[in-house]
Amino acid sequence: MTSDCLFCRIIAGEIPSTSVYQDDDVFAFRDINPAAPTHVLVIPKAHINGISEADDSQQALLGKLMIRAKHIAKELGLAEDGYRLVINNGEQGGQTVYHLHLHILGGRNMTWPPG
Ligand code: AMP
Ligand code: ZN
Repeated sequence: MTSDCLFCRIIAGEIPSTSVYQDDDVFAFRDINPAAPTHVLVIPKAHINGISEADDSQQALLGKLMIRAKHIAKELGLAEDGYRLVINNGEQGGQTVYHLHLHILGGRNMTWPPG
């Protein structure tokens, strides 16, 4: 728990969120400003600033995030039509919250390349 981190505070329940999943290691909740009809953020409960700060020892945790994202996407009805998983990293990557998060975006056609 990093007290000045927005997502740590969401995990701790200090800031409300619409949770869609949680276990000992992973928390998932609806994005407050959805960029698609379905937009969920999947985050590790452990604070990691971003993917570039993840340690090699956290390989299993990062794998867990991605597999969980797959399950959540299916549960939210996105599996058949498809969806996008995104990790923004750093300033030019468009990261605004420095607690690692995987975006699940679905419910519309995605463009490529992203803006
Ligand atoms: P990124 O730009 O990849 O760092 O993504 C940060 C995401 O967090 C954005 O899509 C925001 O809309 C979302 N966000 C910011 N504050 C909150 C909040 N309080 N609850 C849910 N999502 C949030
Ligand atoms: Zn945090």
